[in-house]
Amino acid sequence: MEQTVKELHLERSKLWDASIANHTKYMDPKTGLFETKWTEYRPCPVCGQNNFSKAFEKEGGIYVKCLACEMVYVNPVFTDSAITHYYQTNHSIQSEIVENSDEFYVNLYNQGLDSIEKISPKGTILDIGCSSGVFLDVAKKRAWQTHGVELNEKEFKFAQKKGHHVHNALLETLDLKTKFDAITLWDVFEHIKDGEFYLNMMSKLLKKDGVIFLQIPSSDSLAAKILQEKCNMFDGLEHVNIYGVKTITKLAEKCGLSVLDIRTVISEIGVINNYLNYENPYLGNTTNKAYIPDLIDEKTLHEKLLGYKLQVVLGVKA
Ligand SMILES: [Zn+2]
Repeated sequence: MEQTVKELHLERSKLWDASIANHTKYMDPKTGLFETKWTEYRPCPVCGQNNFSKAFEKEGGIYVKCLACEMVYVNPVFTDSAITHYYQTNHSIQSEIVENSDEFYVNLYNQGLDSIEKISPKGTILDIGCSSGVFLDVAKKRAWQTHGVELNEKEFKFAQKKGHHVHNALLETLDLKTKFDAITLWDVFEHIKDGEFYLNMMSKLLKKDGVIFLQIPSSDSLAAKILQEKCNMFDGLEHVNIYGVKTITKLAEKCGLSVLDIRTVISEIGVINNYLNYENPYLGNTTNKAYIPDLIDEKTLHEKLLGYKLQVVLGVKA
């Protein structure tokens, strides 16, 4: 049975509250911002320029917009050692949530595989941050040979038990003998500070005609633009890079890749309707889910690439 917006977000808010509670340990209570000893300033992760305006603060962090290429990113950002400290001491319950709302995620996974299979032959697939392997289960059912990388030991073991080839280490440190027809990152790429370095590294692991698939929150989405700092896409710490259509295309091109397919998923129209009705966007009671009154319906919203998340297929153009 389909979950209501409210039910889904009540479940997600468990993860949200747990993660935000961890932020306070790093904050200066006087400013409400992260203490400077944890953070450093950086140039735009897409165009490299140092010309930005502040968008808003969120839970200790600051989002800025690059005035040259319109990239939205956290600045200052946690240093490498600070972020390692944060992830090691912050228990993640993501896999529990994925297992609990299976149908919602399986739907998204199948849409992503549809996009990939339009372009790439079915062969070997590598899922980065594969968690307990729910996506790999779906890929295996569709006859892919499934590989994964997962740092969390509990989730790694779970995925391994299900018969996937999983590594419990960072991709950077692995000496992989296999090359892949597809490499997937589901809600992972926005956590990576240096997207350019990461795309280049993954490109080297692709077979000829192989593709990289990203599902990322979109700075172009109507929900993000209307809700701004109230939007859950912005957490102030983990989601360091929020790409839009233009900026992900620009970054890909810098790495010798092209956007071969792009679409948006999850309209968040229910959330926007709540907000426009003066209710809590995530926990309000608005029942009208199908359209933002007299403005836009779900289908048109996705046609205009205004959905909450982008699903992007990158590869070398033939
Ligand atoms: Zn820029």
